[in-house]
Amino acid sequence: MSEKNKEKKLSGGNHTVQKRGNDNKKKEGTACKVAKKCGGCQYQGVPYEKQLSEKQKAVRQLMQPFCKTAEITGMQDPYHYRNKVHAVFARKKDGTIISGVYEEGTHRVVPVEACQIEDEKADAIINDIRGLLKSFKIKTYNEDTGYGLLRHVLIRRGFTTGEIMVVLVLGSPVMPSKNNFVKALRKLHPEITTVVLNVNDKRTSMVLGDRETTIYGKGYIEDVLCGLTFRISSKSFYQINPVQTEKLYGKAMELAGLTGKERVIDAYCGIGTIGMVAAKSAKEVIGVELNPDAVRDAIKNAKRNQMKNIRFYQDDAGRFMEKMAAKGEKADVVFMDPPRSGSTEQFMKSAVTLAPQKIVYISCDPQTQARDLKYLTKHSYKAMGAYPYDMFPFTKHAENIVLLVKQN
Ligand code: SAH
Repeated sequence: MSEKNKEKKLSGGNHTVQKRGNDNKKKEGTACKVAKKCGGCQYQGVPYEKQLSEKQKAVRQLMQPFCKTAEITGMQDPYHYRNKVHAVFARKKDGTIISGVYEEGTHRVVPVEACQIEDEKADAIINDIRGLLKSFKIKTYNEDTGYGLLRHVLIRRGFTTGEIMVVLVLGSPVMPSKNNFVKALRKLHPEITTVVLNVNDKRTSMVLGDRETTIYGKGYIEDVLCGLTFRISSKSFYQINPVQTEKLYGKAMELAGLTGKERVIDAYCGIGTIGMVAAKSAKEVIGVELNPDAVRDAIKNAKRNQMKNIRFYQDDAGRFMEKMAAKGEKADVVFMDPPRSGSTEQFMKSAVTLAPQKIVYISCDPQTQARDLKYLTKHSYKAMGAYPYDMFPFTKHAENIVLLVKQN
């Protein structure tokens, strides 16, 4: 969006309602059968336009003390956007194998055949894995007894490349006839490019365990985002809605207004996506991220895209910023994209010491973002505008970017 239009958009008006086909209208009427038990979609059965206006209202209210809120950017087709799909496997008393989600707040498995927000191909693969388990005599894991093999299946699909990773999470390290299993699965879905075995033998609500072996393909998928290629492994954070991510990052870059001379920090950088997009128009970028797998992917991603002006560090973002501040370092632009819990005072205090001209705060929870804005706006930064994006249609969640500019 141009600066001029931005002003216009900021001054209010209706949220961006895009025209959608009859197909979507039809689906809106058919609410998901397991919505209540699953609890994943708080806005099931609510027309998309209404979902957007609810989110717009919520973000505007939270941002009201700080700045104006632009129209929320919605999706043209708000279905099947999730490119990362997880299913837990279990066995019913009568022996039927089921896969789906945990009933909200419990460890009971709710069977899911199809989901309105998950990638359809991923759902089809999960359904076929269920079928194969029987012919391969593979038992599902029983959380109470610790007996059985298959616990979860995780699928990630590259939106642009179409590459698909299947992660089979097992309760013990040995999977009999694994190669034949892969062969049979790939016969049904030749588009699967890699299969990974992950061992999780702990009594935990975490899906993935620590040990992994690749039994087919390269062990990760690649996807193209904003013209760059990214490698994504099973545990790395990668935005689950690529269509909206491109819009979100585009806005973040526009707000940063990089000219090629800046020193940029990408905090909470995941596999380095924001930092690498920024590196194209900055002097140098420093990325920091806690998850070692994501950092490893980030470093490989930089090489893969032949970027020499970006470095990544594995550290707690707050501690890292504090160390930088103690050394008297400076930065021109800080992108921060913390998890739902938001940032910390340690991080923000140090960010203020590094004194960037601009802070671009991307948040997946505007509530914690508002809390953090309170700190930053009391410490020499002014919020210039909020830009909500609907990254997660049918859920109550909204993503929001806020531009903060240093006041002298
Ligand atoms: N900017 C990335 C990732 C955002 S998600 C993207 O757009 O894809 C938030 C990231 O913060 C996750 O990768 C998570 O692993 C990381 N994270 C969580 N707590 C952290 C901390 N204390 N310090 C640094 N990174 C952290």
